[in-house]
Amino acid sequence: RANRKFHPENSIIEVGQETIGGDQLGIIAGPCSVESEEQIVDVAKRIKKAGANFLRGGAFKPRTSPYSFQGLELEGLRMLQTAKAETGLPIVTELMSTKWIDEFVESVDLIQIGARNMQNFDLLKEVGKTKTPVLLKRGLSATYKEWLMSAEYIMSEGNENVILCERGVRTFEPETRNTLDIQAVPVIKKLSHLPIIIDPSHAGGMSYLVEAGAKAGIVAGADGLMIEVHNDPENAWSDGEQCLTPDEFGLLMEKAEKLASVE
Ligand code: PEP
Ligand code: MN
Repeated sequence: RANRKFHPENSIIEVGQETIGGDQLGIIAGPCSVESEEQIVDVAKRIKKAGANFLRGGAFKPRTSPYSFQGLELEGLRMLQTAKAETGLPIVTELMSTKWIDEFVESVDLIQIGARNMQNFDLLKEVGKTKTPVLLKRGLSATYKEWLMSAEYIMSEGNENVILCERGVRTFEPETRNTLDIQAVPVIKKLSHLPIIIDPSHAGGMSYLVEAGAKAGIVAGADGLMIEVHNDPENAWSDGEQCLTPDEFGLLMEKAEKLASVE
């Protein structure tokens, strides 16, 4: 079902009142983690002003260490809803367990499946039984075929609203967090009709790398971007080194708009 052969036209996925996969770039921005109501509402207002169409923020966090901050969980979800009520921005947030699927279906506009869960087949099948659009991040070392098979797990259960997200893969290079695989855009577009967006924040792991990755993604033909933005990156509870400030994000959006109209 994800295969281009059986579905030659590009898919356009409706998310809230917005779409991803059409002529406009879908811009998802927000902090790695939801930290407080003030924080998420403040960031939401500022990214909206800068041109984002979706608000991200982790409430359930897949941390490498069990001793790191694990997210505000349902409380975080509630704060995201408050930010949505204040700005109108649809919410994107990660689901890690089938345990919370009802709460997510109720309040989330785009359910993110994180890189670490790309092959959690049980989770994929469960979101496949819902109608909520799914943002499927590429696994840390997943091939394109494995990634598309994971999309297939979701789609084969009846939910065809899948958007793919390239977020960098593991390579031998320790200088950057991951290596952004820009070729994912043309390869996925050849193999599949599903939209693909680029997450340069998790790919590089450092804020100075975000602009180059975002621009490369746009020029390569990606359908959108996911950018981590924090009101106070130095004191962020997770992924502060790779977050842009709202002002930096605003500058990036100005450059992105120019590139998007170049082709
Ligand atoms: C995130 O989006 O905050 C995240 C944890 O991403 P990934 O699954 O790509 O590491
Ligand atoms: Mn993050």
